Amino acid sequence: MNNKVILVVLDGLNYSVARDCMGYVDGLIEEQKASVYKLRSELPSLSRPLYECILTGVKPVNSGITHNQVCRLSKEDSIFSLARKAGLSTAAAAYHWVSELYNRAPYEPRRDRFTADTDLNIQYGVFYQWDHYPDEALFQDGDHLLKRHNPDFLLIHPMNIDDSGHKFGLDSRQYRNSARRADVILSEFLPDWLNEGYQVLITSDHGMNNDLSHGGTLPEEREVPLFVLGERFSHAPVAIEQTDICGLVCHLLNISHGKPFPMECLR
Ligand SMILES: [Zn+2]
Repeated sequence: MNNKVILVVLDGLNYSVARDCMGYVDGLIEEQKASVYKLRSELPSLSRPLYECILTGVKPVNSGITHNQVCRLSKEDSIFSLARKAGLSTAAAAYHWVSELYNRAPYEPRRDRFTADTDLNIQYGVFYQWDHYPDEALFQDGDHLLKRHNPDFLLIHPMNIDDSGHKFGLDSRQYRNSARRADVILSEFLPDWLNEGYQVLITSDHGMNNDLSHGGTLPEEREVPLFVLGERFSHAPVAIEQTDICGLVCHLLNISHGKPFPMECLR
């Protein structure tokens, strides 16, 4: 059984835009090689609170990570800490706030941008602090970590879709084209990752609105996709919460955890 997992968080990707613009991923769905679930992000629909939600299964109002300027380590068990406790290897190519939540806060670029320390929750990391850091570079960073370290759990977290949304809004060609570019990049890497036996989940923290922001309760700010690919998924039509992703990944990694998740979405 393949127990290794890649979690891709495409920052700021609204559900409808994902479904309209990601033709490669949708082609996999048409061939029954992937399935998609509509998730409703927890609140507030902001990045750092929802990184914590996705990676720990705890809602922002309970984790205390309630806005983007809360700069401290997470107090919760995370996929990273639970995996390390179980002796698994972990890696991330991700925005620097992820390093601040699970490795060291505050982020110091010269110390933390390139991380290789087996004592940390995220043992191997390439972190970045620029919202316009190219998605293509970020995916290559993640793929490099995969090839070099063969981690049991790898997080890949590009920012360009969210960045386009803040500059041009939900209903813009620039925002939609960022999603299309991410789909093309995924088509480059996904076949290799699946061949290497990884289970792959692709989701987002939150969506986007036409005021060039997010944070509230509008459907376009909250509705995000969860695509799942790999032999372990049942592709059954079940209700999944954003707080279920952590438990789902931990179960796939075959590590002990007390996190909720719907068993029916796995074989
Ligand atoms: Zn944003």
